[in-house]
Amino acid sequence: MGAIQSIAVPLGEVHGVHGNMCTDKTTVLIGLAKVPFRQTEGVLFFQPREAARCAPDRVESRTGAFYDGVIPVDHPAQIMPIVEASTAQHLFLEEVHFLGRDAGMEAAAKQLFLDLRRLGRHTYWSGLPMDFRAQPFELVAFLLGITSHPYPRDTSCAVCKRMPAPFPQRLYFDLPAPADDARFLADTPEQQARKRLRYEPRCSNCYRCPDTMSPQLQQIFAAMAEEYDRGRRELASPADPPRS
Ligand SMILES: [Zn+2]
Repeated sequence: MGAIQSIAVPLGEVHGVHGNMCTDKTTVLIGLAKVPFRQTEGVLFFQPREAARCAPDRVESRTGAFYDGVIPVDHPAQIMPIVEASTAQHLFLEEVHFLGRDAGMEAAAKQLFLDLRRLGRHTYWSGLPMDFRAQPFELVAFLLGITSHPYPRDTSCAVCKRMPAPFPQRLYFDLPAPADDARFLADTPEQQARKRLRYEPRCSNCYRCPDTMSPQLQQIFAAMAEEYDRGRRELASPADPPRS
């Protein structure tokens, strides 16, 4: 990170909506974006393309709130040129943890937020503080440190209903995903259908993350692979000869 630069204009506000999945973070973020004075002063809404649930240019919450005209980005470096070409004062970033997928992206995203703040632009982010292994997302931890307007969100545990439930439990076929699984995996319709991937909020008592895949889950995945291969063989083989 570069040297601290002098501050010539009022700093931009940093609003952060943070909490586990199923805490309506997206609803809160969309609500902030739709406030009339922000719309008048200009809103740019970004989302990481990888995290897009329905369409790249639309953000939709589980409660049915939506925002259209969203700009999908693959890398934080794409954001500043768009901001500089616009007079919009309010910049929204959904699922911000996806912008820290590797060390280079993480550093670029951190610098982006500092630069936007220094320019006096107001930023609004939503993100998960922890990954499915209960380890901190470094970018979100950094953003929490510079957030002037925090909106903490909480929910109850999907198993025992107690609050708080800050741990994102990743499940395949209702079984805990192992710690050696990929860190970034959105619960897209395709992932939900193919591997029954889903997430649920859990409390410290009910959260589980084994080091390696359980024998039960190994069996399910092996059976799936077998079924897939059988389907491919059937498609590849010529049709049965007509019976005489
Ligand atoms: Zn629980």
